[in-house]
Amino acid sequence: MLIVMDSRADAAAVRRVIETVEQMGLKATPIPGAQRVAIGITGNRGTVDPTGLENLPGVLEIIPVSAPYKLVSRETKNERSVVRIGGVEIGGERLVVGAGPCAVESEEQTLEIARRVKAAGAVLFRGGAYKPRTSPYSFQGLGLAGLKILAKARAETGLPIVTEVLDTETAEEVAEYADCLQVGARNMQNFSLLKKVGRLKRPVLLKRGMSATIEEFLLSAEYILAEGNYDVVLCERGVRTFADHTRNTLDLSAIPAVQRISHLPIMADPSHGTGKRHKVLPLSRAAVAVGADGLLIEVHHKPETALSDGPQALLPEQFADLMNQIRALSIVMGRSA
Ligand code: PEP
Ligand code: MN
Repeated sequence: MLIVMDSRADAAAVRRVIETVEQMGLKATPIPGAQRVAIGITGNRGTVDPTGLENLPGVLEIIPVSAPYKLVSRETKNERSVVRIGGVEIGGERLVVGAGPCAVESEEQTLEIARRVKAAGAVLFRGGAYKPRTSPYSFQGLGLAGLKILAKARAETGLPIVTEVLDTETAEEVAEYADCLQVGARNMQNFSLLKKVGRLKRPVLLKRGMSATIEEFLLSAEYILAEGNYDVVLCERGVRTFADHTRNTLDLSAIPAVQRISHLPIMADPSHGTGKRHKVLPLSRAAVAVGADGLLIEVHHKPETALSDGPQALLPEQFADLMNQIRALSIVMGRSA
């Protein structure tokens, strides 16, 4: 259920509604909008009796929300959300490109790639310090040392850092260094991790699980918002199909599908979505054309020696070419890059 407040309702009126909802044993989440505040109500098992609420001062309307997801839904908030990572806005007019290596391997490697992607026009820097690897014998990431290297890359380039949080144990440590916490595809339904990042004061980039439906994807985002963290950016990164010409199948139709039902911004990751370097540029163009709010691209200056995901990493000069093409395309889409 959603309580829509009158545009003239003041903070005291909003507080009183929240207190009343909490006295009913339910959870109230204020959602500030451009014109007015709405208050999402969650935690109810059945329908909520609105009589005690509808006559409170400042209450304009009480709307039942029919979708299983509430706070992420356009029924709750119709205007598109803009999420700020560092100073970078995602979901606004500008198409946002984040780039960097799959994994932080060394200071030299990370700083070199950070400089190159910054020069080409990336506005976010990505790189994993804690890596989710299929095999326990593969490179697992540099951990805390990797986070410190990422902080150096930010200090030098000014680019805000997006890095993965792999588990609840290291979440706070990662949040100390990162500007944005990435929850990876394999963790999309790690509900304790979702709750944890929902309580941390950092924007979250939530990747779609490789076999997740749109409803499951949005319900995972709902976990984060339900804990009070509204700064969630979704990311389509490819799903598993029978196709063997590609590592994953980048499900571009997920982007308009999500935008139809959710106000949250959504990016595309054509690197993991294809797994092959030569497919990253064409699928990046396609993602911009279907309306993605941004791209996440893996770049490596020596991909043949990369410790993870070398085959999908663009060379820095290929990334610069991608940025040029994306800039031209973004104008067609009524955006800038
Ligand atoms: C990554 O971004 O390097 C990564 C592991 O992504 P995903 O969770 O989408 O596989
Ligand atoms: Mn990767």
